[in-house]
Amino acid sequence: MSTGSLSYAIDEHDHIVRVDDGYYRFAEENGWREAGSSLGRSLWDYVAGNELRKLQRLLVRRVRDGATGVELPFRCDGPGVRREMNIRIAARPGGRAVLFAARLRSEEERDAPQPLLDPLAPRAGGPLAMCGWCDRFEVDGEWVEVEEAARRLELFNRPELPPLSHGVCPECSELLLAA
Ligand SMILES: [Zn+2]
Repeated sequence: MSTGSLSYAIDEHDHIVRVDDGYYRFAEENGWREAGSSLGRSLWDYVAGNELRKLQRLLVRRVRDGATGVELPFRCDGPGVRREMNIRIAARPGGRAVLFAARLRSEEERDAPQPLLDPLAPRAGGPLAMCGWCDRFEVDGEWVEVEEAARRLELFNRPELPPLSHGVCPECSELLLAA
C-alpha cells in the first residue's frame, strides 16, 4: 500500500512553501524526480500540459476568491498499480495561501504492469494523448484506460512506446471547470 495521504501548500505567488512527510514518501515511492527540491518552486512546474495548467489555475483562482474549498477525485496510476485519490484544495482564510491535501481512496495492483505509464520506457513515433487528471489515453477519439489503449494500439508487440502528450479529457475538463 502506498502512502495514504500527502499535502503541500503554495503562497500567493503559487510557489510551493510547505510539503509534509507524506509528500516525500509518495514522491519516493513513485520515482518523482526533483521532489527534494520542490520547496520554493512554482506549483505549475509540476503540472504536465498547458491545458491542465490552465484549468488548475482557474480552479485555484476560484478557491482563493471563494470561501469554500473543493474536493475532487483524480487518478495517480503507476505502471503496476491503479490508484484512485481525492484532492482537497482550500484557501487559508484571509490569505492567498492555498493548501492541497490528497488522500488515497483505493489502490489495486494491475494484472500486468503497463509500460505506457513508465516514464523510463523507450519512446518513438507520433504522440499519444494522455489526460493528466484521470490518466486515460485518447485512442481513435475515445478516452480509454491504459490497458485498453495498449490493447488497441498493440503496444505489447512494439519495442518502443509512443511518446505522451499531456492533455485533459472532456470529462475532466468539465469536472475541473464545475468544481
Ligand atoms: Zn480525464
